Amino acid sequence: MQILDGTVVRAEILAGLKPRIHKLNRPPGLAVILVGHDPASEIYVRGKIKACAELGIYSEKLTPDESISTADLLALIEALNRRPEIDGILVQMPLPKQIDSRRVLEAVAPDKDADGFHPVNVGHLVANRPAPRACTPAGIIEMLKYYLVPIAGRHAVVVGRSDIVGKPMAMMLLHESATVTICHSRTANLEEECRRADILVAALGRPAFITTDFIAPGASVIDVGQTRITDRAEAARLGKSEEFERKQFALVGDVHPIEVLHTAAAYTPVPGGVGPLTIAMLMSNTVQLAERRGC
Ligand code: NAP
Repeated sequence: MQILDGTVVRAEILAGLKPRIHKLNRPPGLAVILVGHDPASEIYVRGKIKACAELGIYSEKLTPDESISTADLLALIEALNRRPEIDGILVQMPLPKQIDSRRVLEAVAPDKDADGFHPVNVGHLVANRPAPRACTPAGIIEMLKYYLVPIAGRHAVVVGRSDIVGKPMAMMLLHESATVTICHSRTANLEEECRRADILVAALGRPAFITTDFIAPGASVIDVGQTRITDRAEAARLGKSEEFERKQFALVGDVHPIEVLHTAAAYTPVPGGVGPLTIAMLMSNTVQLAERRGC
């Protein structure tokens, strides 16, 4: 069993960005919009700003009030679209209920779309043209390549069809010449589908759902899920007592962390697997956007 360590791959990605940043005429600029006070979003945004500081990327955090209207948020994004020193714009999701999230994501200029969520960039992904890519699946491809996990000609099964993980993941694996199956909550015989995978990507948001029965012997298993378990007994059952006692919660992926060890050949642990790659790819997208804008 090989543990696919995301922190090692993150370090490699960030080290590759530093000389590219030094070559630019000014630091790349990333604006992060955080609406309201969702605790998880606040943690994610803090991590993103910290990564920018460590790399020499200029960052700006905008924190409009939770009650902001869609029109005012759109105006804020329009202003950022016009600012030359801002290369990337990221709107932290989820947004409060009164906001039309789709309109907000579509308001970000495609050439400043640090998350790769704009429909124009989704189109570029489908057409396999250069453009900012959704960070989490792009990081997973980097991870598979770093650890020399063969993709071309292999059968990849992606469980989950969200716009931010499942769908772009499937498309990226297809571009790497995998044969791809996408599963979701209406898939018949999910276990059987998953057992056909050489590469199994679990992105369903159901803690420890993927057990031995879903995993073919020798498969590479990529666990995207991140759920906080606050029940001590549940954490103990999943072998996470030590983590629980330290933090009063345990982070659990979509793959059963004990059972996977019996069957898979390679596995991304939670925490420390896919998680560290998402911010690294956000930094990569930001640098790439700055380079494309000729800064
Ligand atoms: P999401 O938008 O809730 O999508 C979940 C997908 O899983 C949906 O397509 C859903 O199917 C499918 N699904 C749910 N239950 C299922 C079941 N029992 N059997 C088969 N498919 C099922 O979630 P997401 O945003 O893609 O995120 C998924 C997980 O990844 C979450 O735990 C999230 O926290 C984590 N995540 C981690 C990172 C990271 O950096 N590590 C980044 C993003 C997300 P339907 O479409 O049919 O409803």
